[in-house]
Amino acid sequence: MSLAIGETASGAAPAEGAPLLELRGIKKYFPITAGVIRRRVGEVRAVDDVSFTLRRGETLGVVGESGCGKSTMGRVIMRIADPTDGRLILDGRDITQLRGGALRGLRRKFQMVFQDPYASLNPRMSVGSIVGEPMIVNASAPRREVPDRVAALLETVGLDANARLRYPHEFSGGQRQRIAIARALSLRPQLIVADEAVSALDVSIQAQILNLLADLRKEFGLSYVFISHNLAVVKHVSDRVAVMYLGRIVELAPKSLLYRTPLHPYTEALLSAAPEPKRHVSRERILLSGDVPSPAKPPSGCPFHTRCPKVMDVCREERPLLQEREPGQFVACHLY
Ligand code: SF4
Repeated sequence: MSLAIGETASGAAPAEGAPLLELRGIKKYFPITAGVIRRRVGEVRAVDDVSFTLRRGETLGVVGESGCGKSTMGRVIMRIADPTDGRLILDGRDITQLRGGALRGLRRKFQMVFQDPYASLNPRMSVGSIVGEPMIVNASAPRREVPDRVAALLETVGLDANARLRYPHEFSGGQRQRIAIARALSLRPQLIVADEAVSALDVSIQAQILNLLADLRKEFGLSYVFISHNLAVVKHVSDRVAVMYLGRIVELAPKSLLYRTPLHPYTEALLSAAPEPKRHVSRERILLSGDVPSPAKPPSGCPFHTRCPKVMDVCREERPLLQEREPGQFVACHLY
């Protein structure tokens, strides 16, 4: 039985809340060109037919090795990059083709937090201007109220209100990420796409930022798409987890199922390699042979067949579909 991703066999939602974001067959291909006339000779399939539904108040973790397409998918969700094909539905509205003012008007609903807070904060602007600018540009608050709102936002993310008078270089990495989060919150978004948002931070600071994100989710009813290569971090924050390989989702499941009983051989390999001291299920380390194939020349059949320890003949010929194999657990693999 093939279902829309995010539905269970009974048709009921796996998480509480109505759908906030839907990706339907999203593709993002980058052309490869050659010669002075830049003739198109191929394409890099960074995101290749990705579908899922994110519900209000839900955190979907997205994991995979670098180059698996997770960051490109985040940029497509944010409409920083246009999809090559497929549809993006936000809050029941198809936003795939939105441009200009209509897109800017919608931007307040979704914000992004990046890995490197220093690069995403203008070093010449005070923290007050950085956090307050979106409110002024979008006229979401009367100008006279902006300083008070900025001060309140800074306190919400655990900074002193006087931080607004200082500049990004005066803060530590963790504090700068708090500033970036305050800026992301300034327009009261419904969705935050966090792309490796804690990867550049020390482990102790990572925990603080993850706890902050969890608190903000409760306080503001936020939904997150949380992109990370770190399985332990994703486990900490997510309700469900999508595992990506070569631009495709190969497994999508509630966190508890995915970490306890992974079905896809790639998920098994990732989990077996992840250091997790409190792991309840002991796993033998699965060593994957070879490198991730080029997304410009994805293998035929199952994209994982060149490295899969359980490969069968059919895997080289037929691409497995992402289908529900256990309630709420979707996997793209011929084993099931
Ligand atoms: Fe491995 Fe085949 Fe499953 Fe792909 S479809 S993950 S190659 S067993």
